[in-house]
Amino acid sequence: MARARLIPTMAFAAALGGCAAGTLQLPGVTDQQVRAAQDEIRASAPAQPDATLTDAAARARLAAVTQRLEPQARTLCASLRLGACQWRVAFIPDGAVAAFAQINGDIEVHRGITALAGSEEELAFVVAHEMGHQIANHVRAKQQARTVGANAGRVLLTALAATTVLYGGAANTPEGQRAVTEAGNAGFAAGAAIGEVAYSKQQEREADYIAAWLLYHSGYDLVTARRFVVTLGQVVPGSRAGMFDTHPAGPERLAAYDFAMRQLVAEKGQLLRPRR
Ligand SMILES: [Zn+2]
Repeated sequence: MARARLIPTMAFAAALGGCAAGTLQLPGVTDQQVRAAQDEIRASAPAQPDATLTDAAARARLAAVTQRLEPQARTLCASLRLGACQWRVAFIPDGAVAAFAQINGDIEVHRGITALAGSEEELAFVVAHEMGHQIANHVRAKQQARTVGANAGRVLLTALAATTVLYGGAANTPEGQRAVTEAGNAGFAAGAAIGEVAYSKQQEREADYIAAWLLYHSGYDLVTARRFVVTLGQVVPGSRAGMFDTHPAGPERLAAYDFAMRQLVAEKGQLLRPRR
């Protein structure tokens, strides 16, 4: 079953094409899977940020997660030989619901996202996703300014609006969600004016896949971590990403995460084949 699923991958990757294509042969997701994921995201209670989380507690949880992920991340990184394999994970004590992979292995995780991640597993997904960008060498020196510009604009502004809506308790209203989407689009436009192109959708999905792989091999429960993928779907609504939207939309992302979980369990942690 898992083998058969690998077949549509090449067509999917070829359709995205270009220099921004990823490294691994990721499968496509069906419309039916995306619709089911969308229904689940809509039906799920919105995540509530932990307002009592202190900086010290957030730092400690981030350090623990990083330490637990690092051995497997180094092993994978060394075998792929693509990107930076030494990471410096920095805690940024502000409310932004954001995390970034910077050049040279720097990863920044803001307090806002640590407060929204309801468990160590969910925070591990965040850190592992950013490590995934590093491992697969998505953060290339010559693209640095463009990538960081657009990505920072979108993620930060989406996150700030989401924070306001979440704290306001209106995350599940259509108005609240629309406000988040509009702020995100505005943020992307602002970011794009500074930079130009963010990570491609393929790169984002690849970082999610590598995150799932790292969680599996680091002994984290993938189902518990999955809650954060649902949360991301609530923060950035919509079923499929638009043509100019570089992040896969939430339901598409959740469906792809579910594929990764099934494939990793069925194949006992086997990494998908690299693209040729
Ligand atoms: Zn990313």
